Amino acid sequence: MIGPISLGKMTLEVVSDGTWRLDGGMMFGIVPKVLWERVAPADEKNRILMGLNCLLVRTGRHIILIDTGLGEVRDEKFRQIYAPDRPRPLLQQLADRGLSPEDIDIVINTHLHFDHAGNNTRRHQGRLLPTFPRARYIVQRGEYEHANAPNERDRASYRPVTWEPLQESGQLELIEGDREIVPGVRVVRVRGHNRDLQIVFLHSEGRTVVFWSDLIPMTPHVQKPWIAALDHYPLETLEQKNRLLPQAVREGWLCVFYHDPQISIGHIIEVDGRFHVLPLEGG
Ligand SMILES: [Zn+2]
Repeated sequence: MIGPISLGKMTLEVVSDGTWRLDGGMMFGIVPKVLWERVAPADEKNRILMGLNCLLVRTGRHIILIDTGLGEVRDEKFRQIYAPDRPRPLLQQLADRGLSPEDIDIVINTHLHFDHAGNNTRRHQGRLLPTFPRARYIVQRGEYEHANAPNERDRASYRPVTWEPLQESGQLELIEGDREIVPGVRVVRVRGHNRDLQIVFLHSEGRTVVFWSDLIPMTPHVQKPWIAALDHYPLETLEQKNRLLPQAVREGWLCVFYHDPQISIGHIIEVDGRFHVLPLEGG
């Protein structure tokens, strides 16, 4: 567990929605199991442990949540497949920090897959409502359109209950491409994991934090060929890694790894042409 991190005028904190499990082959693509199981051991169903490391950002003027985890799961089949384990779920994590759902000004969904948008909405007295009643929810228009018309390969990744109530309440804010959301908080659209993923950059006083989302979901994915089989455009993931990883090293970006169950945040270093992650102490 890592405490609040200062970034110039901002404060950031990883707030976890717990863990879940996913097939290891799906996460590591062409990498042979003999290699990936050294860093991510598989259980009897070939599943690996996955984190849900959302990021809480206080800019001084706004309180922002980047991605919202898995959310409450009632479906028994889903539990069997994904083994969610949420001993202290996201809303409790926020409450532990003195925050109620009303305090969140902005939610940024990097995309609408169920494991990134799960706490967007919640059930209250039989009704499905936005979890964060005052928040604008920032989503790429292309991703929203795709989520409403998914294909046979990714239909299982979307749960309309995580965005339909936001549309009804008028809280969904669809954007196209790169955008500064508030000063120092910028989203950049990258194709790779899907067509319209948005990664998030935080800048303050010359320092940069990047929330990679599923472009680089876990720390082993800093190795260039480690690309999830789930990615729709794996060669574009590779292109983005070729472009962004050297810059992350050069400029000392602090990186958030959404799905890493152990190392949620760290710096990327390059040793003999290969990238590694140096965990932030306690992170
Ligand atoms: Zn994901």
